[in-house]
Amino acid sequence: MIKLYNSYTREIEEFIPQKSREVLMYTCGPTVYDKVHLGNLRTFFFSDLVSRVLKFNGYYVKGVTNITDLDDKIELAAKNSGKSTSELTIHFSDYYFETLKKLNILTPWKVTRATEYIPEMQFLIKVLLEKGIAYQIEDGIYFNISKYPQYYKLSNQDPNKIDRSRVDLNPNKLNPQDFALWKFSVSSENRLMEFDSPWGKGYPGWHIECSAMSLKELGDTIDIHIGGEDLKMTHHPNEIAQSECVTGEKFVNYWLHSAFLNINSEKMSKSLGNFYVLDDLIADGTDPIAIRYYFLSSTYRNPLNFTDEGLQASKNALKRAYDMVAALKVDDSYKYDETLVGRFLEAINTDFNTPAALAVFWETVTSNLPETIKLNSLLKMDEVLGLGLISYVGYDIPMEVLELGKLRWEYKKQGIYDKADFMRREIEKLGFEVLDQKDNYQLKKVFK
Ligand code: AMP
Ligand code: ZN
Repeated sequence: MIKLYNSYTREIEEFIPQKSREVLMYTCGPTVYDKVHLGNLRTFFFSDLVSRVLKFNGYYVKGVTNITDLDDKIELAAKNSGKSTSELTIHFSDYYFETLKKLNILTPWKVTRATEYIPEMQFLIKVLLEKGIAYQIEDGIYFNISKYPQYYKLSNQDPNKIDRSRVDLNPNKLNPQDFALWKFSVSSENRLMEFDSPWGKGYPGWHIECSAMSLKELGDTIDIHIGGEDLKMTHHPNEIAQSECVTGEKFVNYWLHSAFLNINSEKMSKSLGNFYVLDDLIADGTDPIAIRYYFLSSTYRNPLNFTDEGLQASKNALKRAYDMVAALKVDDSYKYDETLVGRFLEAINTDFNTPAALAVFWETVTSNLPETIKLNSLLKMDEVLGLGLISYVGYDIPMEVLELGKLRWEYKKQGIYDKADFMRREIEKLGFEVLDQKDNYQLKKVFK
């Protein structure tokens, strides 16, 4: 049984999907105007964790993650860089996919791009207008939140105490919290992304994007919706209000929000400029999986401070795990220790308690189980942890690969990069990959 904290009810609940073996899940994805940072990655890691835990429990996961490729930040970034919006969004979504791969984040069932769902968004807006829930004023079409009495249920806010400094203060709106479903283009703005609509040229509000993609791909009611905790205040309440007012059905059964990754107790974010991207850390010799380990070391509902010491501790732990796996002598049996794996499952099924699950993992490492059973137990747990332990299981590296590795490193040190790249490709053809560290390199077998 999986127990999880549902942000909507603010209670720990037993997870019961609508269908007995299938889970419908939606994750709010990145806005692709720049590189994703480690803060964003904590949330995407969490989505991957939930999906892996569900699969571990025998569910088939129909997971959708969107790419927000339509947003004012993208307009601005494209104008500033002189690139087209599609050039920009393709570049940064490719970067996002590469980054996820480095963190062993598995590709969801479907990735959707907002720009491909404009007719669906317009359909939702049309229904909301027909039902008298949306209204049109001079600059756009807005959702009237007074038509949806449960609006504050998820955010748990007192409407009288809301900080109005961050809401759109258009005086013609009926309520200050009313949000835009469609904005009309203003010719002086020279918008790069605008679309024809029955109401005039314009572009959708951000919130309607996710409703359109979730409803189209997964249906009226989904089991799980995931996002960072900042989305709990506005984006997700707006998604609920507009979706439920269109369908008349409950939009989401379980809301899961992951807490922030912080730096010096402040949210890591682009706007504060206190962010790291994965590339920077890799360039400093960090194995990206150490970041994954870092995320695993805390429960998802607690803010996590990103520090040099914490990162070092994760690197050390990971190295210890890899060294230990590499040293185990194994045969070809598939048996694992059911008690330890059972305890691991119980930990992970208790609201995704990764620190408790890691404790069972380390207990297994230090146990005196027969080596094959120990390894199989750890590999089983790694289906959820995603540390890529399988790549470190003892195997011989052929002489040819070792020679190519040495030669490539020499070329690289001398700055002869074309030859070094050629050697890398030769190594890859032989089924191995090269991982560069600061003053060293590693050869790893690629398991497909
Ligand atoms: P964005 O690209 O800004 O739309 O954000 C993508 C996702 O990352 C959203 O679910 C955000 O809530 C999440 N996010 C942004 N910053 C952080 C952070 N510092 N820690 C955890 N999640 C974050
Ligand atoms: Zn969303």
